[in-house]
Amino acid sequence: MDETCEMKYKVMDSPLGKMEISGCEQGLHGIKLHGWKTPDTGPAEAATPTEQLGGPGAVPEPLLQCAAWLDAYFREPLVLEGLPVPVLHHPIFQKESFTRQVLWKLLKLVKFGETVSYQQLAALAGNPRAARAVGGAMRSNPIPILIPCHRVVCSSGAVGNYSGGVGVKEWLLAHEGSPAGKAARGGGSRAAESWRGALGGTASSQPAGRD
Ligand SMILES: [Zn+2]
Repeated sequence: MDETCEMKYKVMDSPLGKMEISGCEQGLHGIKLHGWKTPDTGPAEAATPTEQLGGPGAVPEPLLQCAAWLDAYFREPLVLEGLPVPVLHHPIFQKESFTRQVLWKLLKLVKFGETVSYQQLAALAGNPRAARAVGGAMRSNPIPILIPCHRVVCSSGAVGNYSGGVGVKEWLLAHEGSPAGKAARGGGSRAAESWRGALGGTASSQPAGRD
């Protein structure tokens, strides 16, 4: 368990720019976003490290799974549910902590197109009063997108912060067709509702009759 991880890297393209996947034979360590175009940071030069791996076959299975998962996320979200989620091996997942608990709950419970508020996620992780700590956990998420910290929004309906930039968060939410993404583009504020709706609650999407 305490063996040093032999880290490998894989760079892939996404609609938002280059992404670097890192991990070892035992599991995925991280997803990093290179030169993501965000309104916050301006035109960041994509300093892409084109680290080539030893050769074909040298990429550990968890990295390949992650790349396949991300590819589906961007191109073919409908197949996502059927894809394996790679084993996670970042140190943050190897000892019990509130952060780990929060990240696990988020990964397991908040699916494509859904959102959850910081407060709701705190409750899911066992401490309803820890909304602020949930914010901290989101900032230390080593595996954005796969662990969907972009789906955590303010209970007011505001999109909230994102390490990759608010513009990226809005893009991801809009990509998922999430109400929060639409709200960000100037509309209602039903962010927190979709998560409850997903649990079998209020799905009030009757086609409005024209009058
Ligand atoms: Zn490792």
